[in-house]
Amino acid sequence: MLNEKLEEALNRHMNAEFYSSYMYLSMAAYFESIHFKGFSHWAKEQANEELGHAMKMYSYVLEKGGTIVLLPIEGPPSKWNSCLDAFEEVYKHEKQVSQQINNLYEICQEHKDHATQIFLHWFITEQVEEEATSSELVERIKLAGASNSSLLLLDNELSKRQA
Ligand code: MG
Repeated sequence: MLNEKLEEALNRHMNAEFYSSYMYLSMAAYFESIHFKGFSHWAKEQANEELGHAMKMYSYVLEKGGTIVLLPIEGPPSKWNSCLDAFEEVYKHEKQVSQQINNLYEICQEHKDHATQIFLHWFITEQVEEEATSSELVERIKLAGASNSSLLLLDNELSKRQA
């Protein structure tokens, strides 16, 4: 059995992962519209990954006999000022997601829910990677600066991301 407060928090977090997927999908469309197909491909892959994160939460709540409550998904922005602007938002967003997972973990500790703590270890580790990747991309886009040819090299690299 899941504690009621924890069940609600897991459902809210599942919603945050669905929002992440929406945000990356919206970014993919933005990148494609400005002809950065590699960035777009990377963001689409990330949108799929985020769906996977949401579904992990979904399966866990059900496995624990909890109730799935699908909350409305907020609409993400549809435009950014540049690749840098978009990736700065990614980095900021991923830091927020990490914070939310830490909060979830603390609720588990409060209620001595060891199983859910172990379940969340995967997410905690995943967030270390998400933050490192987005921060690295922000820095590399900054290094490219105003050089379109440098950005296109990075675009080519990101086009090779595999699922
Ligand atoms: Mg995620």
